[in-house]
Amino acid sequence: MKARFLGGGDEVGRLGMVLSTGKYNFLFDYGLNPTKPPEFPMLAPPVDAVFITHSHLDHIGMIPWLAKNGGANIYATPPTLAVAPILLYDTVKIANIESNSLPYEQVDVDNIIEAFTPINYGEIIEFKDLSVSIHSTGHLVGSGMYSIQNDRKFLFTGDIQSIDTHLLFGIKPVDTEVLFVESTYAGKEHPPRNAVEENFVTSIREVVERGGVAVVPAFATGRAQELLMVLENTDFEIWIDGMARTVSNVLLSFARYIKNFQRYKKMLRRIRIVRNNADREKALKGDVIITTSGMLDGGPVLHYISELNDEKNGLFLTGYQVEDTNGRMLLETGSIDLAGVATKVYMNVKFFDFSAHSGHKELLEFIEGCKPDTVVLMHGEKREDLAKDITNKKVILPKNGEEFEI
Ligand SMILES: [Zn+2]
Repeated sequence: MKARFLGGGDEVGRLGMVLSTGKYNFLFDYGLNPTKPPEFPMLAPPVDAVFITHSHLDHIGMIPWLAKNGGANIYATPPTLAVAPILLYDTVKIANIESNSLPYEQVDVDNIIEAFTPINYGEIIEFKDLSVSIHSTGHLVGSGMYSIQNDRKFLFTGDIQSIDTHLLFGIKPVDTEVLFVESTYAGKEHPPRNAVEENFVTSIREVVERGGVAVVPAFATGRAQELLMVLENTDFEIWIDGMARTVSNVLLSFARYIKNFQRYKKMLRRIRIVRNNADREKALKGDVIITTSGMLDGGPVLHYISELNDEKNGLFLTGYQVEDTNGRMLLETGSIDLAGVATKVYMNVKFFDFSAHSGHKELLEFIEGCKPDTVVLMHGEKREDLAKDITNKKVILPKNGEEFEI
């Protein structure tokens, strides 16, 4: 077999990998970086099937391009397939508003949805000389890694999370010979999750007690829902807005993919949902507003910041802030770009590490647990840090565009 990364090999983001058996070509993930302007992976060759690990744009953002360039089936779990169109239509909308070029249009999103083919955890699909199955990765509701078997066993992880969270169980190793594994947090560890959660709730309480509102930007998929559960045992008045609201509702249809589903359902009933501008006004008088976008690059969060920009209120970032985003600018300079104007943020800004990725030690444990003879490290900027701690295995650090034998 041969493999080639179209993107996301030696970088975090825009992941796409072609696996060639000689007879067939398979594409694993096909994402873009939602920066301004977006960054794209290389163009994919004709493929026989596409396997998507989860609904984050850096893993799915490029799949509509495939609609007019091949038309192979797109496999993913039902929750991934339900959330993907929300993100893809939004990507087209943002590109139009910002006049960024995108290598596809709305009609391509319509068409690619026709190619969506659900696969559930544990189910096996046969492709003549190859069988494929999918297993949970603990990263998002419905996120999965693909196990591929012919004369050799392959495992392609996408993004992985080792610890149990409120909505998901952590990833469990699957036996393989060749392991393609993400390495976003190579060389880095996360603080204990309990401590992060406690600190988060305490910080919100401080804001509320001084009469303020805590604005919590969160990624629509995964993070927003997890944060709701972190606040489950509090009596805060919680509002949810933007795409975070849409995705949270869509996930209500996937009980078997969510740990503590009844609690999640109950939590969604108890929070307040922003449906219109009148609600948006009311939310300004609540305690907590969870809203998109997570990196402050658009969405209702900007409205809340401009309305609540004084030191009484909190602005609590909950995810990694990519370079060239408003969120990163805030952390580095204390200002953000509001409608083209650099605006100083006076709110109490804090960052909480709610990452949905395994840390360095957990990555090593997962790799050991899968018992591979060959490890391909992808989706990382410091892969060497991880590679030097992997013993008795062949380790490959592919570069984008480079074909390698596996
Ligand atoms: Zn992800």
